[in-house]
Amino acid sequence: MNKLEKICVFCGSSDGNDESITLTAQTLGETLAARGITLVYGAAKIGIMGVIAQSVLDAKGKVIGIIPEFLKKKEVVHLGLTQLVTTSNMHERKLKMHDVSDGFIALPGGIGTLEELFEIFTWLQLGLHQKPIGLLNTNHFYDDLLKLLETMVVKGFLSMSNYELLIVDTTVDGLLSKMEQFKTPNLPHWLNKDRA
Ligand code: AMP
Repeated sequence: MNKLEKICVFCGSSDGNDESITLTAQTLGETLAARGITLVYGAAKIGIMGVIAQSVLDAKGKVIGIIPEFLKKKEVVHLGLTQLVTTSNMHERKLKMHDVSDGFIALPGGIGTLEELFEIFTWLQLGLHQKPIGLLNTNHFYDDLLKLLETMVVKGFLSMSNYELLIVDTTVDGLLSKMEQFKTPNLPHWLNKDRA
């Protein structure tokens, strides 16, 4: 069993227009707080990011926000977090999110969410970390993305074993329990331990 003390959540900086997504973000926040898992995220008070942070805080949980200096504007940054970490740029922010977290979850979001998900998934594929990555497929939001990944497998651009590293579930509890059981992948023979 993986001990998940801190989970980094990638999600939209917009509200979207699907109420079930907002409700799922609230459920995830409440569940993290109830299980004593600290939320790590991008520190915004807007959009789905703000929803999940507030639901963790309202349930007396802990939230670490990590934000680059240039985004740290009054209108967007959540000033009520347990801890606010400022970085000098986006790259440093993602590295910090990676370093402090025991696992990652993507909720619905836009291109920023996808970029964060796929960077951390790529690092797993390269053996740069061995932490579980979960995709919360709320209300079929990620069905088309999963179809594209299957096409990559069929066309020979993504191995089935790497595709299967991405943990997918439609429920918060289902996803967290799969993440706890995630087993370290076998690396391809051409990747050795001297990776950057
Ligand atoms: P998107 O999915 O395009 O809405 O982008 C969401 C991701 O981009 C978040 O996980 C954040 O890391 C980052 N992001 C976008 N806008 C902001 C913001 N105003 N404050 C903090 N982070 C943001």
